[in-house]
Amino acid sequence: MSERFDVIVVGAGAAGAALAARVSEDPTRRVLLLEAGPAERDPAADMLSNVTFTQTPSDWGLQAQATPGRLLDYPQGRALGGGSAVNSALAIRPLPDDLDSWAAAGNPGWAWNDVLPCLKRLEDDPLGPSPVHGAGGPIPVARYAPAEYTAQQQAFHDGCVAAGLASIADHNDGVSSGVGPFPMNRRDGLRVSTNLGYLRPAIGRRNLTILGDALVDRVVVRSGRAVGVDAIVDRVPVRYEAGEVVVCAGAIQSPALLWRSGIGPADALADLGITVAIDLPGVGANLAEHPGAFLFVIPAEGACDLSEVQFQLGARTTAPASPHRNDLLLGMMSHWDLRGAPDFRRLVGVDVIFALTCGVFLPAARGSVTLRSAAADAAPVIDLNLCGDPDDVRRLVSGLRLLREIAESAPMRDRMTGFALLAPDAWDSDDALGAYAQSICAPWYHPAGTCRMGPASDGANVVDHLLRVHGLDGLRVADLSIAPTIPRATTNLTAIAIGERAAELIG
Ligand SMILES: Cc1cc2nc3c(=O)[nH]c(=O)nc-3n(C[C@H](O)[C@H](O)[C@H](O)COP(=O)(O)OP(=O)(O)OC[C@H]3O[C@@H](n4cnc5c(N)ncnc54)[C@H](O)[C@@H]3O)c2cc1C
Repeated sequence: MSERFDVIVVGAGAAGAALAARVSEDPTRRVLLLEAGPAERDPAADMLSNVTFTQTPSDWGLQAQATPGRLLDYPQGRALGGGSAVNSALAIRPLPDDLDSWAAAGNPGWAWNDVLPCLKRLEDDPLGPSPVHGAGGPIPVARYAPAEYTAQQQAFHDGCVAAGLASIADHNDGVSSGVGPFPMNRRDGLRVSTNLGYLRPAIGRRNLTILGDALVDRVVVRSGRAVGVDAIVDRVPVRYEAGEVVVCAGAIQSPALLWRSGIGPADALADLGITVAIDLPGVGANLAEHPGAFLFVIPAEGACDLSEVQFQLGARTTAPASPHRNDLLLGMMSHWDLRGAPDFRRLVGVDVIFALTCGVFLPAARGSVTLRSAAADAAPVIDLNLCGDPDDVRRLVSGLRLLREIAESAPMRDRMTGFALLAPDAWDSDDALGAYAQSICAPWYHPAGTCRMGPASDGANVVDHLLRVHGLDGLRVADLSIAPTIPRATTNLTAIAIGERAAELIG
């Protein structure tokens, strides 16, 4: 059986859902959106209180090597909305410099001024439109007012100020550095994913077909052109044909799908018995991820209230001697109930802690996504290579020192009795702190860069500035995998903006 569409979008995640919804606004265009996750799920999963960093039914169940020999669960959304349907809803925009560097790398049309209209169009700022913010878009992006801060988050804010950071009102204005409310894609206690914001309103369109439980095995390539996809829908193999295929399967699954389709490093494909359609060595390379480190804090009596929201605000600042503005992000998880993590609870010795965290938001290290099997359901091999560059470790160490200063400042010190899992004398040496950071560092679940955008003259690039796969007609990639560098931000808004920009480019 074969059905024909104008555009097939593979993956209904942050970028893919936005793209499919926008492209299908033209009623003459037949759009098929294929999502490996289920078409329906428990509405309770959309509650913000249901954020979880462990694997859930809406998850791919992947593991990744964080540092050599250390394998961690690596959640990635498998649902309508993709990562945007399972995440913590922190909605930080890329910095203007991030996008300007994409354009400078040979990608006209991707500078801040080009992408800002997409960032505004996707947004519904409850404070109304302004030169930098949009109103009326599919994704509400709200900032907590200081009066709404919990006592715990207020103390973190004041601790940051005591440590010398500025108090700011808006992380997304493009210029601020300092501590302020996290912009979050939330409304009435819900995480507003691209499923809720983009797909639900589009669901009645006759020209938009959305299929869940549809795992795309490979892109079908004929005479140098992508002509459709082979998918497994409700366990039945089906071929769909289209004028254009857009892969939006995310920075882990997009390169895996391209490999299975014969698009990738020729030698590695041949080793897996995959017929090479086009030799593109950069597919799966250049994996960037934000490495995070933590101070696990034993709370004083009464400091943690499990009924309160876990995240409200955070700080962006520049690591000492770093040329990259705002390359550190600091935050606090107000409480963490360890009764759901018995192994960790045993190590720490108490039921509830809170966690201060820092992340390097422009890491130098790069990892990779590869395959060890050509089967559609085989998990990709993910090497995050966190802390693989000494400068990333140095910046994490400086972040930990700043977090300690915040924790021990007057506004915070009465809320804690000490740090867990960190020997007090570790503070005496950068090497010891660096070893601690490497032993506990974890990803923020922000993979990017594995189908890098840039000119074909650099053989490691995969798509051009119009998102077309080099050397092949009819195939584009539009998700976070195309990012030439990872944004200094949580990545959901960037991915949605890529979906919006792709819709403009497809026209
Ligand atoms: C646990 C977690 C917490 C996070 N927290 C935040 C946060 O607070 N703030 C923030 O900004 N970002 C956060 N992120 C990151 C953010 O959600 C992602 O950067 C964003 O979703 C990436 O968008 P994408 O479109 O590139 O990929 P995704 O959103 O991952 O979408 C890819 C989609 O493609 C589908 N797919 C993959 N392969 C196939 C296939 N072969 N066939 C059919 N469908 C396929 C997937 O199931 C998925 O739905 C978090 C992510 C996770 C996992």
